[in-house]
Amino acid sequence: MPFVIDYSLCVGCGTCIGNCPNRAIVRRDAEVIITGMCCDCGACRRFCGVNAINKGKAKAELNNKKLDRELKKRLSLTRNIVALKFADKAPKRVPVEDGLNFWCHICGDIFEGSAESVFFTAKNSVCGGSAALGLGIRSLNRDDVLAMMEAITGEGGYFTCSEFFTKPRSLYPPFPRVYGGLIIGPLQQIKMPDIVVLPVNAKQMSMLSTAYAFETGELILGNAGGGTCLGTVTIPFLENRPTFTCGDHGGRMHMRLKDEESLVSFPYRLVPGTVNNLDRTVFTQE
Ligand code: SF4
Ligand code: SF4
Repeated sequence: MPFVIDYSLCVGCGTCIGNCPNRAIVRRDAEVIITGMCCDCGACRRFCGVNAINKGKAKAELNNKKLDRELKKRLSLTRNIVALKFADKAPKRVPVEDGLNFWCHICGDIFEGSAESVFFTAKNSVCGGSAALGLGIRSLNRDDVLAMMEAITGEGGYFTCSEFFTKPRSLYPPFPRVYGGLIIGPLQQIKMPDIVVLPVNAKQMSMLSTAYAFETGELILGNAGGGTCLGTVTIPFLENRPTFTCGDHGGRMHMRLKDEESLVSFPYRLVPGTVNNLDRTVFTQE
């Protein structure tokens, strides 16, 4: 494990437990321990009053290419994994998306292996999903906004009632700010993304959830009825926890998901420990 506790100094106060963003510190019996979910962020050290936490010899595996390979191999994934990273400017080698698109359509191209990384902004977004993604919204004239809302809401509407715009979003913390854009690409191309999204079947989902729960003791909670963006990016990013969702009908269509597939999203820093724990849980049962 990357960070370690010096038990000659630790007084077992537990302050570090609640201050680890990765749920990597737990109390087991009388002892406070750092588990394999540790991602080397170092946050816990600032909260230990007796300086009992130090860097260990091992390092967390945060190499995106390696994690991409490991996830595909262990879960027998046949699709690409999408990585998402918030940024205010497009990095040098990532082109800015040209014209209007749906962010979920770009994800569908990446799942299929037919697209490279792109920088997506609110100006590119056909739908209001960019607001749910923390990117703000493209400026539209009044008639266009009303037409979009009418298409989404009301009797015979494509989607839902008008409360959809306020209620589901009010259940989660607000974005700390509006981001300039979102880099969307295959995991093998994006270093240290914020979120990764995988299309999974029930077996793959059960494997990931077992491996995640193994050291955190936490469930992966799902959500349904809201937009695909809410379930795959907004909640995992703002709450820093994995989430699964079946997505909404339009999002599924744009992502070209198979009927048996749902989506699971992980904050990136929770991936290395979970991948490692696949070997310690489900693969020991086969
Ligand atoms: S993930 Fe960060 S805060 Fe948690 S144990 Fe590791 S170094 Fe400490
Ligand atoms: S904050 Fe320090 S002293 Fe308290 S349990 Fe954690 S490592 Fe031990």
